[in-house]
Amino acid sequence: MTDAPIEWPASLWTETAGAAPACAPLEGQQRVEVAVVGAGFTGLSAALHLADAGRGVAVLEAVQPGWGASGRNGGQVNPGWKLLPDDVEARYGKSQGSRINAMANAACDLVFDLIDAHAIDCDALRPGYVQGAASRRGVAFLERWARQWSARGAAVELLSRNETVELLGTEAYLQAVLDRRGGNIQPLSYARGLARAAIAAGAVIHGDSPALSLQLDSDAWKLTTPRGALLAEHVLICTNGYTGRLWPRLDAAVVPVPSFVAATAPLEEAKRAAILPGRHAVSEARRVYVYYRMDRDGRFVVGGRGHLLDAAQSGDASHVHAEARRLFPQLADVAWQFHWGGYTAMTLSHAPKLMRLAPRLHAGMGYNGRGIAMATMMGRQLAMTVADQPTDMPVEPLSPIPLHAFRQVGLSFRLIAGAFLDRCEHLNERRSGMRLLED
Ligand SMILES: Cc1cc2nc3c(=O)[nH]c(=O)nc-3n(C[C@H](O)[C@H](O)[C@H](O)COP(=O)(O)OP(=O)(O)OC[C@H]3O[C@@H](n4cnc5c(N)ncnc54)[C@H](O)[C@@H]3O)c2cc1C
Repeated sequence: MTDAPIEWPASLWTETAGAAPACAPLEGQQRVEVAVVGAGFTGLSAALHLADAGRGVAVLEAVQPGWGASGRNGGQVNPGWKLLPDDVEARYGKSQGSRINAMANAACDLVFDLIDAHAIDCDALRPGYVQGAASRRGVAFLERWARQWSARGAAVELLSRNETVELLGTEAYLQAVLDRRGGNIQPLSYARGLARAAIAAGAVIHGDSPALSLQLDSDAWKLTTPRGALLAEHVLICTNGYTGRLWPRLDAAVVPVPSFVAATAPLEEAKRAAILPGRHAVSEARRVYVYYRMDRDGRFVVGGRGHLLDAAQSGDASHVHAEARRLFPQLADVAWQFHWGGYTAMTLSHAPKLMRLAPRLHAGMGYNGRGIAMATMMGRQLAMTVADQPTDMPVEPLSPIPLHAFRQVGLSFRLIAGAFLDRCEHLNERRSGMRLLED
């Protein structure tokens, strides 16, 4: 865990989610085939897939299912990786790379299929995911996205400026891609639904049960919690941006990055009709970007960078409010009802990591802000490691990020430099006469 206090801040999702399943703490010593640490999408999906395959599985969660990023995110089921498919094949080779791309291509389907199969009530909508670009550099990226994913069978199309304005109701972009794989969910309801499905399949989930230590105890792994201990043949660590010191240097495998979301009160009818009329999930092709959508009650929900020095992410939301007004000037006079934040986990390679830490001990994390689909898919991949099946995701050793202790400085620098470069590009486009968003 990070130093963040263990509290569950009120958010749009805590206020509108379905009831939480009952998850009592672990008491006394128990033995199980597979122990999972962390009940976010990764751990819950792993537990569900394992229980479905008839394995005995118990989950230890420091707070309650969905407490981490899984219950706090923007609820946008984003397709793909941060890396484009050609880059994946260049990095991993044609054969392994195309396997990874096929897996990434199927990740959104996995989310919506699980929602259907387990009748998870989480306001799921699948109108597609849109990425907008306001610079030539951004448009070039979108062209590559559309070309490379279309070539692999994904339903992706490049939109003209007029089509983009009509689809989204904002004049912010020169062009956009509409990627029909994506959509929106209520993320905490989805996490709770996965937890219920895993419990129904036979998994046990222990809430308020932080794993405090992990050691090999003759033939089994032993996890201790404040009131008990779990002996397990296999352990899967699924703690992502909340990874602490449970395993030496595992916290240095990723950089926890704060992200911040705000939601308006339900908008009046005219604004609902004009803003995101197709209810798409939207983000931007730029270095420091925002992501936004509508919720089921007509609230505008927008996310962006979090506060680097505020561990609880409870602070000022004016920066995301300003971004919302930049996109939709008609939001200038609306009331804002919620803001909250949480930690996502970045990797240097921009690729998620499935790591083998020791025999029968694996960890999966590092979704670089695109974790609803990929964490759900990682859970399935982790379950495959237990069955000794070959995974689509490459299994790698733990490789801590060099100079990890200076991560905050590096992150601050990246944000400042990224915002500056975005701004320069924006001014250049304006000077060259392209019609862009008003500042
Ligand atoms: C504000 C925000 C907005 C985001 N928006 C989007 C979005 O719109 N779309 C998208 O695809 N992705 C988004 N993401 C990313 C996405 O939410 C994450 O990638 C994903 O939820 C990670 O899931 P996870 O299960 O791996 O980790 P988490 O959901 O963070 O779960 C980790 C869990 O591990 C538990 N834990 C930690 N240590 C221990 C321990 N020692 N013992 C027991 N339990 C422990 C924590 O309590 C926590 O519940 C966003 C993230 C944030 C923070």
